[in-house]
Amino acid sequence: SHLRVLIAEDNLVNRRLVTRVLEKRGHTVSAAATGREALDQVQHERFDVILMDVQMPDMDGLETAAAIRRLEAIQGAHTPIIAVTAYSMKGDRERCLAAGMDDYITKPINAQELAGAVESTAARATKPYASTGTQS
Ligand code: MN
Repeated sequence: SHLRVLIAEDNLVNRRLVTRVLEKRGHTVSAAATGREALDQVQHERFDVILMDVQMPDMDGLETAAAIRRLEAIQGAHTPIIAVTAYSMKGDRERCLAAGMDDYITKPINAQELAGAVESTAARATKPYASTGTQS
């Protein structure tokens, strides 16, 4: 189904690539070139999924994700955030999860992996008891 996606990414080429891939899949994409811009957008608009570049100047993806989670804690909301990182450094995944992100993909961006991550993360988020384990 149709998703509203926010991409926070400082690199224009990557921003265009992600936008093109997701729009081809029928999704609506908003782009932010900085962490602050992304933070501003989430305060004015609701998104189904946020793609968050980890390496951004000024306010990086980890800081931005943590700031979004602090805002959401007040509102009682949870927008899935997928980290996008250039390195698959040891400990990167843990740092992203600790900052409040839900999933993780690595650059260079693969169109199929990107679409799969966005759509499966959104699908999981709409199932109310998907991650709570056993329910009797
Ligand atoms: Mn970057």
